[in-house]
Amino acid sequence: MRSLVRKNIASLRPYSSARNEFTGTAEVYLDANESAQSFVSLATANRYPDPQAALLRSQIAEVMGLPPERTVIGSGSDELIDNLIRIFCEPRQDSILTLNPTYGAYRVFSDINDVAVKTFDLDSEFAIDQSSLEEFLAAERAARTLEGGQTKLFFLCSPNNPTGNAFSLETIEAVCECFDGIVAVDEAYQDFSSRESAVSLLDRYEKLVVLRTFSKAWGIASARVGIAITSPGIVALIASMKYPYNVGGPSQALALEALSRAERVRESVGRTVAERERLATEVARLPFVERVFPSDANFFLVRVREAKAVYRALVEKGIIVRDRSGELHCSECLRLTVGSSEENERLLNALKEYGRG
Ligand SMILES: *Cc1c(COP(=O)(O)O)cnc(C)c1O
Repeated sequence: MRSLVRKNIASLRPYSSARNEFTGTAEVYLDANESAQSFVSLATANRYPDPQAALLRSQIAEVMGLPPERTVIGSGSDELIDNLIRIFCEPRQDSILTLNPTYGAYRVFSDINDVAVKTFDLDSEFAIDQSSLEEFLAAERAARTLEGGQTKLFFLCSPNNPTGNAFSLETIEAVCECFDGIVAVDEAYQDFSSRESAVSLLDRYEKLVVLRTFSKAWGIASARVGIAITSPGIVALIASMKYPYNVGGPSQALALEALSRAERVRESVGRTVAERERLATEVARLPFVERVFPSDANFFLVRVREAKAVYRALVEKGIIVRDRSGELHCSECLRLTVGSSEENERLLNALKEYGRG
C-alpha cells in the first residue's frame, strides 16, 4: 500500500494542533488562543473540536459495529473522496477509475486535483461483467509503462447512484483481487440495501476503503459527517493530511444525537424501503412507464416514454426529480427519490394525471 502513496504525502510532517498535543482533561485551557466564553447557544462553541472525533468514533463502534482503529471522520464522505484522491494520485500523472454511470463527485474532485478519470462501462443491466473488467484492467496495466502514471483508485459505488443497484460481495471481492490499486466502495446507501456490506472484507484487503455517510439514512446531510472504514495504515494517512478540525463540534454532536436514536433511524429505513417497493409497483403500472429498475437504495430509476416531458409536468406541480437521460444506458430515465408517504402520494398523483394527458 505504501508504494501507492504520493511522495509528498508519504513524507508529510502533519500539522500538530493544540488539541492534538494535549488530549487529557484540564481545568484551564490557555493553549489554543480560543475565546474564554461562548456567545451562542452551544456552550462549548468557543472551543476547537476534537480533531480525531474520538467520542463519535467510539459511538459509531458501539452502534454500527465499526471498530474505532479502522475509522476516520470526514466533512461528509465527499471530503473523504477528495482526501483519497489527494493521498494517492500524483496530479497530471496518475488516474482514478470509476464505473459508468456513477456518482459525479469522483470526476469533479479528480478534475479539481488535475487527476485523469478512466471509466469502466456497466452493462445494460448496470452490472459489472467480470471478464470485461479483467480485460479492461489488463489493457490498462499494459498501457502503464507508456504513460508513466498508474490508476491508483477505483471508486465502486454500491448501491450505485444513479442506477440504484448494489453489487454482490463476490463481485466486490473479485474487484479487490484483480485491481492492484486502492478499492474505495462508496456505501452511502448501504442502510437501504439487502446486500452484505464490503466492511466484512476489510480484514483481508489492506487496500480496501469503505465510505459511509450520515447524510442519507441518518438524516443529517446538513451536518456534513462521513466515515471512512479501512486499514489502520490508510486511517493514519487520512488523519495526517486532513484539515485538523475538519468536522465541527456541532456536527459531531448532531451525529452523536442521531446515533442515540438509531432505533428510530432503523424504523425510518424500514418505512422507506417499504415505500420504495410500493412506489415502484405503482409507477410500473403507469401507461408511459417502460421500465422500473430494481433498487437497493432510497431512490430508483424509471424509464419513461419522454423523460423531459414528464420532468416538466412534475416541475409544474412543484415536484423536482432528477433527469438522468444523459447517462450511459439511462436514456429517458428519471431518478426518483423515495420521500415521505405524503410526498410519494403527491408524486404518484402527478404522474397519474400526466398519464391521463
Ligand atoms: C449522497 C452521496 C454521498 C454523500 O456525500 P456526503 O458528502 O456524505 O453528503 C456519497 N456518495 C454517494 C454516491 C452519494 O450519492
